[in-house]
Amino acid sequence: MRLTVLGCAGSFPGPESACSAYLVEADGFRLLLDFGSGSLSALQRYAGLHAVDAILLSHLHCDHILDAVSYVVVRRYAPEGAYPPIPVYAPSGAPDRLAAAYGQDDVAVSDVYQFYSLQPGTFPIGPFTVTVDRVNHPVETYGVRLEHAGRVLCYSSDTAPCDALLRLAHGADVFLCEASYLDGVDNPPDLHLTGREAGETATKAEVGRLLLTHLVTAWGSEAQTTDAAASTYAGPLEVVRPGSRYEI
Ligand SMILES: [Zn+2]
Ligand SMILES: [Zn+2]
Repeated sequence: MRLTVLGCAGSFPGPESACSAYLVEADGFRLLLDFGSGSLSALQRYAGLHAVDAILLSHLHCDHILDAVSYVVVRRYAPEGAYPPIPVYAPSGAPDRLAAAYGQDDVAVSDVYQFYSLQPGTFPIGPFTVTVDRVNHPVETYGVRLEHAGRVLCYSSDTAPCDALLRLAHGADVFLCEASYLDGVDNPPDLHLTGREAGETATKAEVGRLLLTHLVTAWGSEAQTTDAAASTYAGPLEVVRPGSRYEI
């Protein structure tokens, strides 16, 4: 499978990146993991306006969903005619949240999105075997494990350290893991990971490669985060960029 980073800025768009959105492709099928602020722009640059077969929203924080609102216009009002509904796997509140953000009643986006409520477990999306589980974040949030042709990608979503994340990441070839917080400061609990914690999780889960994401550029330090992760994880690691592609 192939991973393309469309956006990787944590919490709000950064000067060089949209918020979280990751395109994962296999066998010609294109799954979008999260659809954060600004990422619809990057989707057109790195893939294509309609280069999506299904969407998975890990949780309903703005920085992971807001361009799914803009995307309603893209599909509903396409000059060539409205596109058929696209599957959206998301927490159960997604239909109301997206409709409210769009500004109409609660059926406002049902012509564009076919919603499926996420619950912990394993299920197929296209050619992928998908496992999701609740992680440690203040709202209903799912970490994601994608398997295809014997290869494994784990996406942390937003989370503080937790056992569910260790299980999802176990033995993954690539672990796309958030590292929002700096080490060495007094961070609030049960929200996000630091670089050190991302590295610790990667080591415990015995992953093959660590890709750090969801750094908050304005408040953080990429160098500090990378060094902190390298102090607890000896394998290959890097901070992802918009447009980065990885063959997994
Ligand atoms: Zn976030
Ligand atoms: Zn969040």
